[in-house]
Amino acid sequence: MALKIIDSCVNCWACEPLCPSKAIFEAKPHFLIDAKKCTECDGDYTDPQCASICPIEGAILTSAGVPCNPAGSLTGIPPEKMQAAMAELRAH
Ligand code: SF4
Ligand code: SF4
Repeated sequence: MALKIIDSCVNCWACEPLCPSKAIFEAKPHFLIDAKKCTECDGDYTDPQCASICPIEGAILTSAGVPCNPAGSLTGIPPEKMQAAMAELRAH
């Protein structure tokens, strides 16, 4: 059981110091989680600390491959509204 950082990570460093298992490390092109070390914060915190601080929606996945912070969960903008706004921006 381990969380996973994917390529939308912007290398902000916010998660690395919070990990109680020292499982997060700087890599190229983005930070990674050592699956052998990640405990999903079990026994240390009620929430995975990396996902709690991460400012990028979708950058960290659960062991089931589901975003810990899905689209709209941090911005408060419904995904369909964001898609419509992006489409409009691209059209201009
Ligand atoms: S879930 Fe917890 S143990 Fe796993 S990488 Fe994130 S902060 Fe570290
Ligand atoms: S907090 Fe999120 S965006 Fe920042 S380094 Fe960690 S995974 Fe990447």
